[in-house]
Amino acid sequence: MKAAVLREVGKPLEIEDVQIDKPGPHEVLIQTSAAGVCHSDLHFQNGAYFYPMPAVLGHESAGVVEQVGAEVRYVAPGDHVITCLSVFCGHCEYCLRGRPALCRKEGLRRTPDETQRLSQKGEPMNQFLDLSSYAEQMLVHENAVVKITKDMPLDRAALVGCGVTTGIGAVQNSAKVPAGSSVAVIGCGGVGLSAIQGARLAGAARIIAVDMVESKLELAKVFGATDSVNASDGNAVANVMEMTGGGVEFAFEAIGLKATSEQAFAMLRPGGTATIIGMIPLGQTVEVPGVDFLSEKRLQGSLMGGASFRVEMPRYVDLYLQGRLNLDDLVSKRIPLEQVNQAFADMEKGEVARSVILFD
Ligand SMILES: [Zn+2]
Ligand SMILES: [Zn+2]
Repeated sequence: MKAAVLREVGKPLEIEDVQIDKPGPHEVLIQTSAAGVCHSDLHFQNGAYFYPMPAVLGHESAGVVEQVGAEVRYVAPGDHVITCLSVFCGHCEYCLRGRPALCRKEGLRRTPDETQRLSQKGEPMNQFLDLSSYAEQMLVHENAVVKITKDMPLDRAALVGCGVTTGIGAVQNSAKVPAGSSVAVIGCGGVGLSAIQGARLAGAARIIAVDMVESKLELAKVFGATDSVNASDGNAVANVMEMTGGGVEFAFEAIGLKATSEQAFAMLRPGGTATIIGMIPLGQTVEVPGVDFLSEKRLQGSLMGGASFRVEMPRYVDLYLQGRLNLDDLVSKRIPLEQVNQAFADMEKGEVARSVILFD
């Protein structure tokens, strides 16, 4: 099958022929229909994070089940699924407490002495985040899929697999934003726009979008932002403080930078909570004034929206089908696999919400 392979940090992905194995007892073989190009892929390609190479990248996808292992009961061939990069075991402490994103992930991968799921000319190929969705097919653990209705368009379902769930979940699960709140979201890419949309669904009264690109601030209003702040003048915090008469109750950082994380904390009112969603480069520290903890300001992380995937992803699908969740405007481009490097370049320029790779 055709797949996009990362061989060296900083180099373009190569479109190569990669072999995929048959499903083991608890595995599912999927025909990939669509794969979103997410910032996290870029973080590994540009070296902000490390993954063993060579690896087939991609982790935000949806497709159709082709074949299942002998023990799989949850899905059958022909089912439509969203893939979930947070494969979960279902029986560790975190899974049992409803936090599968923090699962200990024991026994979910093939062991080193087994034939690997992906290979090339007999040599093992690394599977990125247990998925590798920049490929015509995926072979994954059954707990890495979420079954959805066939009414759902698969290119938009793909986005639910990472960015949408990460953004909405950060607002609703990690920060638990109540109706009537004031919210600021820094960074209006796919995840930030989803956080804005999550705040709208939660009934936030004021939703301030912060970005440096005017077209993204315009797009943010489509997703529910009530106000926008262009941060390119360097006064984002002062502007938000002034607009809100002393800061927001909830701030979200959806870029993954030290400076914007510190700004998210700085724009809180006393008692406010800043949630960092972006992937801050390895080794980078974030500094905030210690005295601010005396006014009960909180700084917290959020992984995969703190979501219970098989509960929440189908709900997002329902909201979309009811016309209450906008996924159509998140897709800025539909591209073939061969254009993945161009999609990375577009993302680096910060100009697009999401490029989605379509297969077939
Ligand atoms: Zn992602
Ligand atoms: Zn677990």
